[in-house]
Amino acid sequence: MLPDDEAGDSAERLLAEKLSSPSNKKRKAYFRLHNIHKSSFSFSPAFGIFKTNALPLEDGYSGILLTANIAVHALRDIKEGEEITISYMANTPSYAERQAHLNTGFAFTCTCELCSLPLSSRRLSDRRWNRIIALDRQMADPFRLLASPISCLRGLREMLRLLKEEGYEEDTAVAARTYYDAFQVATINGDQARAEVSAQRAYAGRVVRYGEDDATVIEDEGLWGQPGIPPDIRQDAEVGAERCADSKGREFEDWLWKEGTDGLF
Ligand SMILES: [Zn+2]
Repeated sequence: MLPDDEAGDSAERLLAEKLSSPSNKKRKAYFRLHNIHKSSFSFSPAFGIFKTNALPLEDGYSGILLTANIAVHALRDIKEGEEITISYMANTPSYAERQAHLNTGFAFTCTCELCSLPLSSRRLSDRRWNRIIALDRQMADPFRLLASPISCLRGLREMLRLLKEEGYEEDTAVAARTYYDAFQVATINGDQARAEVSAQRAYAGRVVRYGEDDATVIEDEGLWGQPGIPPDIRQDAEVGAERCADSKGREFEDWLWKEGTDGLF
């Protein structure tokens, strides 16, 4: 295990120290792992293996797991013998950018379901993901949350629609992040009713990603996971909030995203 902010010579030194201490069996198993940087002059074999195989672990560390029990929260049925893979990328740029990144960094051509789409579907998917990334970047500007909150909500609703078209339903982790952004827009503009609804949906996505038994999810449950809208907030909130308790229908969604409203909250 190495800290993510460790790089170059100091990372090499740290790794050499760690590898000199474990039992011979582990050391042998380590050096049997694949190394795509064999011909590199920049890394030692040990560090090349680390860069090829390390997985992100908790709290800013990456590490090699020679054996591991991994809990998978499946969003669909998994066929017997079907390979379970992970994404090597933090977001989903276009097909060409994905392949370039994976070839340079990991020396393979991706043939995942998304990368294997027929050309016309792939182009459509590329357009969607480019738009999702552009909208996501807009949300990184904290001043927009106050200056153009309605425009932020429009963008977030569009993101959720595009994600759904890409097969990411509302209760997935990526949608959860979008709802967390909506929660921030509502909170910063003093709209507790919408903040509450967005927080609950963000929480639902976190449960899907981490599971109900995860410590951080349990911690968040007190903040985000209360069922329904607390009575005092419901009383104070505007008329639309009365619909919160029962509906996920179109009318409710239009209320949640302030459809038909311009300018400020
Ligand atoms: Zn792929």
